[in-house]
Amino acid sequence: MAVPFRRVSSTRRDKRRTHDKLMAPTLVVCPECGELKLAHRVCKHCGSYNNKKIK
Ligand SMILES: [Zn+2]
Repeated sequence: MAVPFRRVSSTRRDKRRTHDKLMAPTLVVCPECGELKLAHRVCKHCGSYNNKKIK
């Protein structure tokens, strides 16, 4: 197995980890049925996107 050539500095390590934080998913109200849904996703409740029914 490959081994790191150099030690990663604490600054570099911590900069990398700034993106590791957990974030709550963005929820929006569906304009079709009024249920909460994930933003930029087809509504789980009524299956619409952009006020159009998908399938
Ligand atoms: Zn909906």
